[in-house]
Amino acid sequence: MAATRLDGKACAAALEEELLVRVSACSVKPHLAVVIVGKDPASHVYVNNKVRACERLGIQSTHIALESDTTEDSLRSTIMKLNSDSTVHGILIQSPLPPHMDEESLTDLIEPAKDVDGFHPINLGRLVQGRLDGLLPCTPSGVMQMLDWSGVDLTGKKAVVIGRSRIVGMPQALLLAAKGADATVTIVHSRTADARAECLAADVIIAAVGRPEMVKADWVKPGAIVIDVGINRVDDSSRERGWRLVGDVDPSVGDVASLLSPVPGGVGPMTIAMLMANTVTAAESQHS
Ligand code: NDP
Repeated sequence: MAATRLDGKACAAALEEELLVRVSACSVKPHLAVVIVGKDPASHVYVNNKVRACERLGIQSTHIALESDTTEDSLRSTIMKLNSDSTVHGILIQSPLPPHMDEESLTDLIEPAKDVDGFHPINLGRLVQGRLDGLLPCTPSGVMQMLDWSGVDLTGKKAVVIGRSRIVGMPQALLLAAKGADATVTIVHSRTADARAECLAADVIIAAVGRPEMVKADWVKPGAIVIDVGINRVDDSSRERGWRLVGDVDPSVGDVASLLSPVPGGVGPMTIAMLMANTVTAAESQHS
């Protein structure tokens, strides 16, 4: 069996169509501020992609690039200024921050109503309470959107999430188990005794580990649905740039699964689309 490719680009394009309508109906032009610290090339690519998505949708964007040696105090005051600027509806601090900065405590300073990444304890706390109408973390909510768009009914399905991070794995597990999605969820992490056995029992596998091609074909039940969140850079001397991107799922899984999201072109475009959706939601709720 060859798995159907779950096309994140097409799903993101469909979501962008809906967002264009919401942006034009919004009483104010949504405005996203993106703050990046340092010169990490991959982070700059991500930020540029976000700024370009804003341009496509008529969302105003402000791109604040700070030097690598910016102090925590200085970033703190940048965040506080953006919090009190009523023309800014969403604030995103691009991860990773330089090692001298405490990323979690800095992002916790973002006004929850402007936390378009959905990482603030208030927004994550709402998710734990089962309240799904707020600002949800972009990557896991993008995965949910992709599954819904593909017509997958999760009710009663056994789902395995590999990874339990604050930004992907844990909120992903909560979203899958939430009322309305209704999957039965297992979280696999680095201390799980037999990750392969857990995966083999699953109808749906969401891999968010950060280990290149860890999930092999013999980990997957025939016909299972597999979503690959991983983005890993591996050396590839056959490419001019010397590397290529691979996911957390081995391509051979495509011979066993019924539905598989590719890397690139799967979850990545959905993460950006959901960031745009959160920005529009934030603008709508700040001006309702
Ligand atoms: P983290 O490193 O924060 O978390 C990785 C998780 O994987 C941890 O919970 C860890 O367990 C678990 N893990 C590590 N090794 C194993 C193992 N051998 N078996 C089982 N579990 C293991 O990563 P993130 O959640 O931030 O990201 C995960 C992946 O998703 C990365 O490739 C990242 O690049 C990608 N990503 C993609 C996005 C997109 O838009 N497509 C957005 C965000 C991330 P433990 O907790 O025990 O340490």
